[in-house]
Amino acid sequence: MRLNDDVRHVVILGGGSAGWLTAALLAREHHAGDPGGLTVTLIESPNTPPIGVGEGTWPSMRDTLRRIGLPESTLFRDCDASFKQGSHFQGWMRGATAAEGDHYRHPFTLPLGFGDVDLVAGWLQRHGDRPFAEVVSAQPHVCAAGHAPKQASTPEYAAVANYGYHFDAVKFGVELRKHAVANLHVRHVLDDVDLVLSHDDGDIAALRTRQHGDVTGDLFIDCSGLASVLIGQHFGVGSRSQKHLLFNDTALALQVPYATPDAPIAPETISTAQPAGWTWDIGLPTRRGIGHVYSSAHLSHDEAVQQLHAYIRRTGGPRDLAEPRRIAFDPGYRERFWHRNCVAVGLSAGFVEPLEASALALVELSAAMISDEMPATRAEMALVERRFNDTFTYRWERVVDFLKLHYALSRRDDSDYWRDHRDRASLPDRLANLLTLWRHRAPYRQDFYRVEEVFPAASYQYVLHGMGFLPEPSARMRHPSVGDAAEPYFRETAHLARRMLGALPLQRALVDHIRAHGLPRA
Ligand SMILES: Cc1cc2nc3c(=O)[nH]c(=O)nc-3n(C[C@H](O)[C@H](O)[C@H](O)COP(=O)(O)OP(=O)(O)OC[C@H]3O[C@@H](n4cnc5c(N)ncnc54)[C@H](O)[C@@H]3O)c2cc1C
Repeated sequence: MRLNDDVRHVVILGGGSAGWLTAALLAREHHAGDPGGLTVTLIESPNTPPIGVGEGTWPSMRDTLRRIGLPESTLFRDCDASFKQGSHFQGWMRGATAAEGDHYRHPFTLPLGFGDVDLVAGWLQRHGDRPFAEVVSAQPHVCAAGHAPKQASTPEYAAVANYGYHFDAVKFGVELRKHAVANLHVRHVLDDVDLVLSHDDGDIAALRTRQHGDVTGDLFIDCSGLASVLIGQHFGVGSRSQKHLLFNDTALALQVPYATPDAPIAPETISTAQPAGWTWDIGLPTRRGIGHVYSSAHLSHDEAVQQLHAYIRRTGGPRDLAEPRRIAFDPGYRERFWHRNCVAVGLSAGFVEPLEASALALVELSAAMISDEMPATRAEMALVERRFNDTFTYRWERVVDFLKLHYALSRRDDSDYWRDHRDRASLPDRLANLLTLWRHRAPYRQDFYRVEEVFPAASYQYVLHGMGFLPEPSARMRHPSVGDAAEPYFRETAHLARRMLGALPLQRALVDHIRAHGLPRA
């Protein structure tokens, strides 16, 4: 491509969640189908289905879906969606049960007063005998009681308590495709790409398909999943392995029916620590999606299946269980995400593990940055390439830090897996330094200074203090005025929790209502 060539045609390789979300956003925001608008083509193999997992999202998904114009009611009716208000961690501290007190919640809503007063110091002074999250946020109370985060009269995408979604990943992909093709003018090519054709300077010129000839373009987005056809296979951009920090490399996934069709739907992802990994448990209206993520260096496949089956039986699932689907991955992310006229989004860019559901959030952030900074010419692309690589290297590093926090603070001693996680050599330096600072003060905004952090300082507080991390308060933290300043927020939170419990419907009741009647349009 020549430097002054305009960028007019974006070609996306891959029709999983990453490909369709990116295609829809670019088409919507760059007026695909209008004269002078961007042309957006998505090529998807008819022979390689999308990975079909990835059922938990962050609240950012509400903004993304609103941005692409997909009605929220569609999500509930056609993608089996339910509300996700955060994560409920069980057994992470000592390997005991939730009933024995080994559990904590990481809700999506920021604590009331966060950033205004030192809530951690106030909690330690006045309410240190109660779980941190329950003192600073109403949402754990809403989740514990199984309530939804809004009412039937709350318009689409609006919230009473902050929420993302659980949904069926395969159905989500289908709805995104229908919307992108029918309403947003995305050109869909159902074919396999066998060859990448290059310009003399090394830029990609076209993708050769089996039935549809060569598809030329100006910018190529690699959404080809773990195969990483363009950025990995074609350009040879390496992956930065994170296996020395985050050991999990295998997942087992199963879909499990409810005992009765009207069983409650959990309004949060239930993450239960296991001897060499953890299980996820996601409640959809029609079934549960359950999986076991573990380190194959610490656990055999057969033991992992047994532990998954034991979890399902213990939590009310059927006795007769199928063999789970096995997915192997190498935790890591690309050395560069944007290279020449190619940018990777989704699994082709990296994947570390499903804990805290950061993968789709990174897809959303990637698609948004490509859309916001869409280069007008090839010359501009080099500038955007540097900015994108810098931003996403920072984001992946922070994701790794945040996930590692969950393991590093555990006091479980029932396996090498947990002991290895506490080894200083397996702790990223930046996280180790922050943990030292947090001994005497709470995480705050300046520790995470980018405008759009994947995980804000409040999330660190929820996990740190949920895991039982107790700071040794500095003189400033011990001063009574700090407790005085925080106390009104704690009172208001308790009041809010009572009001929400009185006004919000149960998750099952609201989800069933939306599936039958929809939500008021915004
Ligand atoms: C066990 C597990 C659990 C997860 N849980 C979560 C979660 O709870 N929350 C979350 O946010 N994320 C989660 N993720 C990640 C999430 O699944 C992915 O980020 C998301 O599905 C996006 O995948 P993708 O579109 O990049 O790749 P895929 O879905 O794999 O799509 C790849 C596409 O590329 C196409 N393709 C590949 N090669 C070619 C070719 N040569 N020619 C034509 N087409 C080609 C395929 O046909 C397919 O359409 C999880 C991942 C795993 C492994």
